[in-house]
Amino acid sequence: MSEKSGGDFRYSVGESKVPWHAVGEFFDGSDALEVVKFLLPDSGKAGYDGKLAVAAEAIAALAEVSGRATKLTLGRKVAEAEAEACRYFGSKYACFTDNWTGGMEIAYKLAGVSAGDEVIMPAVTFIATMAYPLSVGAKIVFADIDPVTINLDPADLEKKITPKTKMIVPVHLGGCPVDMDGVMEVARKHGIPVMEDAAHGMGGAYKGKKLGSIADFGGFSLHEVKNINSLGEGGILLTDNDFYGKQFAGGRFLGLDFTRKIKDWLYDISPLMDKNGGIQVAQNHSSTEIQALGLILQMKRLDQIIAIRRQAAEYMNGVLGEERGILIEKSDTADTYSTHHLYLLRIDPKTVGGNIQQLSAKLAAKGLTNITHFGPMYRFKIMRDLGYNEHELAASCPRTEEMFYHSYTHLPLYPLTEEQLVYQAQAVVEAVRELKQGK
Ligand SMILES: *Cc1c(COP(=O)(O)O)cnc(C)c1O
Repeated sequence: MSEKSGGDFRYSVGESKVPWHAVGEFFDGSDALEVVKFLLPDSGKAGYDGKLAVAAEAIAALAEVSGRATKLTLGRKVAEAEAEACRYFGSKYACFTDNWTGGMEIAYKLAGVSAGDEVIMPAVTFIATMAYPLSVGAKIVFADIDPVTINLDPADLEKKITPKTKMIVPVHLGGCPVDMDGVMEVARKHGIPVMEDAAHGMGGAYKGKKLGSIADFGGFSLHEVKNINSLGEGGILLTDNDFYGKQFAGGRFLGLDFTRKIKDWLYDISPLMDKNGGIQVAQNHSSTEIQALGLILQMKRLDQIIAIRRQAAEYMNGVLGEERGILIEKSDTADTYSTHHLYLLRIDPKTVGGNIQQLSAKLAAKGLTNITHFGPMYRFKIMRDLGYNEHELAASCPRTEEMFYHSYTHLPLYPLTEEQLVYQAQAVVEAVRELKQGK
């Protein structure tokens, strides 16, 4: 009897609703061993080869008696990960996507962002925040930042709203909560949907609500550099809104609609309907069962990871706060719980006698990892080539300019060892002292 015989179609389809698995290949026991070897590679320590041989034998024996995974994408694990996300974030709907750029694309479509519309976001973020609106010919309008948090400033946001504004996208940069009351008040006054880019904010909170679950949409990146990851790539999109949430599945997978059928077929294909009644075409942002498994496992550790990050940030604040000219991170209040995805290092260039670029060079020379990754988005070639005026935009975001070129950089906090953390804090103090002495 062949591996795939039996079942309700010509071949067994296992967990699949449709006979896709009749035409696809399975993973077998030797493939499973390769996955183990990939995740647990040889460290060079004595004994690896011997222990690997034991594992290989055990997996081969297991494969003799095991079944096969019959659903590798959008199956039970994805559903389980989404149920866990709804529980943890207190949201009504969660959609686990290939990555957060893909998750944001679904939200932008449901909000009807199209050519000629405007989307407001902070001038300091990552390109992913604006990739979809740029790709459809919508215009990005940059709001200036709050110099203490480097997050979107609600007062400047209000000034930048026009009748064409279709979406507002605050970013909890470095895991520090945005002033969401300020943002939501401006947005509600003008009837504009808000999406929280909480790529760095997973596990943080604002006024008792988890970051990412406050606005109309919100979500997280599970890329390997974020607070937790789903084996390299992944994203979660959240909403409490039934109109949006009921369309998440279609938005993720090409509009396939198993609640309807055309004649003699298994399903129908529905377009997405945006909030303005417009028709939007879904792309494919499906996530795999293995990604979902990674997410489920790491979500169990999330709160613990944030607690460790928080301690590390407190330590940095304690040491750096002693040195004149270093502006430490804003501490959490009763209303905010930062994830401390990155440590925001700011200086007062006048007191220090040098700017952040000079300080960063000194830190790099001392072997420190500066994360100079989040800067003015209007400085990139793609913006000039699309016709944005770099100089006008810089003039419209004076604090972004001032802070980026003179005052801030980001440092890592996790997973630094205690020794690395102590070294990092001392190195920052030393570098600042050198600048003060004109060295
Ligand atoms: C990482 C990141 C994203 C994109 O997430 P992906 O999962 O890589 O698509 C979006 N916004 C910010 C601020 C990020 O840092």
